[in-house]
Amino acid sequence: GCDCQRFLRNNWLLLSTVCAVVLGIGVGVLVREYGKLSNLDKFYFAFPGEVLMRMLKLIILPLIISSMITGVAALDSSVSGKIGLRAVVYYFCTTVIAVILGIVLVVTIKPGVSQKADEIDRTGSTPEVTTVDAMLDLIRNMFPENLVQACFQQVSNTFLGFNLQNKTKEYKIVGMYSDGINVLGLIVFCLVFGIVIGKMGEKGQVLVDFFNALNDATMKIVQIIMWYMPLGILFLIAGKIIEVEDWEIFRKLGLYMATVLSGLAIHSVVVLPLIYLITVRKNPFRFAIGMAQALLTALMISSSSATLITRFVLPVGATINMDGTALYEAVAAVFIAQLNDLELDVGKIITISVTATAASIGAAGVPQAGLVTMVIVLSAVGLPAEDVTLIIAVDWLLDRFRTMVNVLGDAFGAGIVEKLSKRELEQMDVSSEVNIVNPF
Ligand code: ASP
Repeated sequence: GCDCQRFLRNNWLLLSTVCAVVLGIGVGVLVREYGKLSNLDKFYFAFPGEVLMRMLKLIILPLIISSMITGVAALDSSVSGKIGLRAVVYYFCTTVIAVILGIVLVVTIKPGVSQKADEIDRTGSTPEVTTVDAMLDLIRNMFPENLVQACFQQVSNTFLGFNLQNKTKEYKIVGMYSDGINVLGLIVFCLVFGIVIGKMGEKGQVLVDFFNALNDATMKIVQIIMWYMPLGILFLIAGKIIEVEDWEIFRKLGLYMATVLSGLAIHSVVVLPLIYLITVRKNPFRFAIGMAQALLTALMISSSSATLITRFVLPVGATINMDGTALYEAVAAVFIAQLNDLELDVGKIITISVTATAASIGAAGVPQAGLVTMVIVLSAVGLPAEDVTLIIAVDWLLDRFRTMVNVLGDAFGAGIVEKLSKRELEQMDVSSEVNIVNPF
């Protein structure tokens, strides 16, 4: 009775997503077998999915701007003390390690690379792009010459787009503009803007309030999109199955999942415990077992915010520290690049690292938030955002595990910061303060 109803209410998004994936596969297989759709029919059939993609792309711009500015401005007030600073250093370092770990794994395992090597036709004259060119473009993108232009164009030297019809890639010479949001440029600007208005005090408060309100409104719209998501997912997946020619994609997806899961495992069993061991000098695994309940909750409900709120006091900045999400975003972006035969130069790897970090900061602690911010990472390196379709089918599963790692990272962070801040905490002599730093 009651328990069951509550379970349904709390997990409707997950349940409807899983249903949509299963139904989408079923409908796709049926239509493929018996549908006899013409190419034009397929186009119409994919329409509800196309609408979902349009919604996701639509929300990128307000999402980057409001979440980055409010995030940085809020950080500024909590970093004032030494304790806050330590927390931020911990958040930043562990997130960067997670991203690097993810990239190293996905580049070595190569889940998206075809076994048949002949697929790519490189006969066209493609200009050599050196590392220097790539780095220069990276820096060019960080400083857009025009803020409005940055909302729809970025500098891109090698890759302009992937033509799905005849499987060709379009190249341009160094320093050309291509379609797509200049995510990196906007992030850099919003970082600076957020810091500046955070430091302005009274005068800047209007702006801080404005962007906070904008952020709340944006999140509300994201929630509305979430309602539509199951329907869109159903048709996206069905549409993909109808047009799939190369069944190797399932092998690739399996490898992709294995890559993300092993990255998450290494991060939570090796990296985080090691950092805890070095700084706190106590048994990290005993500490982790003490939090088994929270970790299980995270696994069940795929929401780090809900986990931290229902189980404990929310530690400072917990929504900005998402190691699992950062790792997943980096792996997924490189995986999709591999599927598209896009060669990643240093500039693109750095862009993916930076935007994956930002996307994990920007993601709310709710189910599948990482999937929405994934579109940001893809558009930053000019990859087709439509390709999230491929990973949507397995995202509901990966989401639970990355959420668990997000919560684990917050918990270790609380323990570490508390230990390093013993002296300050004693001086403050407020026992409630201890609860904020270490709720466990
Ligand atoms: N569900 C994750 C969390 O709450 C966010 C994500 O989708 O990556 O931590």
